[in-house]
Amino acid sequence: MLGVKVTERKVALVTGGSRGIGRAICKRLAEDGMDIVFSYRNGKESAMETEEMCKKAGARVLALCEDVSNPLACKELIEKTMEFGGRIDVLVNNAGITKDNLLARIKDEDMDSVLDVNLKGPFYMMRSVVKVMLKQKSGRIINMSSVVGIMGNAGQVNYAASKAGVIGMTKSLAREVASRQITVNAIAPGMIETDMTASLNEVSKKKICDSIPLGKMGKAEDVAGVVSFLAGNDGSYITGQVISVDGGMAI
Ligand code: NAP
Repeated sequence: MLGVKVTERKVALVTGGSRGIGRAICKRLAEDGMDIVFSYRNGKESAMETEEMCKKAGARVLALCEDVSNPLACKELIEKTMEFGGRIDVLVNNAGITKDNLLARIKDEDMDSVLDVNLKGPFYMMRSVVKVMLKQKSGRIINMSSVVGIMGNAGQVNYAASKAGVIGMTKSLAREVASRQITVNAIAPGMIETDMTASLNEVSKKKICDSIPLGKMGKAEDVAGVVSFLAGNDGSYITGQVISVDGGMAI
C-alpha cells in the first residue's frame, strides 16, 4: 500500500459489478459522485460496459478480474483499491452464485462453491477492508443477502445457508466496529430481474409474482437505490440491519 494517493471523491468497492444488481449499484454510486472500483469473475465484455456507464456518470473507474472465493484475490482487491483512490468509503459485497437442487442431490462441490463465493467471499473482503476503515474511523459495508436467507426456499438449501450466514456476519461485525463509526448492513432482495432469475420459465415467474404482494418482480435499480441510501448521509445512523427489497415477499 505504498505510494497511495488520497482523492477528494469518495471511493466505493463493489464485488460482482459486471452485471445485474452489481452493475446497477456501480452506476448509482457513480451518479452519487463516488469513484468506483468493481470486480468480476469472467465477464470482461460486460465489465467494460459497466465501466463505460460509470465513466459517463463522471466517475473514475477501475475494473478488476478477481475471484472473491480466493482470500488472496480479496486482499489484492483491497490493496488495488487503495492504490487507486487511497481510501475505501463503501464496500458492497454483491458477488453471488446459485447451484440449486433438492437437498439429496446437492453435490459436495455445489455446497462448497456456493459457500465459498457467497459467504466466505464477503468474510475475506470484510477482514481486509476493516483494517482500512478502522484507520479511517469511517466506512459503510453493505452485504447482499436474500429473502431466501430469511424465509428459506425449497431447492436452495446451500444458497439459503450462505445468505442466512451473511446476515449473522453482518450483525456480528456491526457490533464489533460500531464504536469506530463503521456501519455494516445487509440487503435482502426478493425476485429481481437479472441473469440469475432469467432462466425461470414464464409459468414459474407467474407463480412467483402471484406470491409477491406488490405483484411483480423488482429491478436491479430498486436494490441500487437502497445501497445508495445506506452509503449516503441519510444512512449514517443505521447499522446491523437487514433491509428487505422484495415487494413484500417476507411480510
Ligand atoms: P448475476 O446477474 O448472476 O451477477 C453476478 C455477479 O457476480 C457478476 O458480476 C459475476 O461476475 C459476479 N461473480 C460471480 N461469482 C464471482 C466470483 N467468484 N468472484 C467475483 N465475482 C463473481 O447476479 P445478480 O442477480 O445481480 O445478484 C447479485 C447479488 O444479489 C448476489 O449476491 C445474489 O445472490 C443476490 N440476490 C439476487 C436476487 C435476484 O433475484 N437476482 C435475489 C436475492 C439476492 P461475471 O459477470 O464475471 O460472472
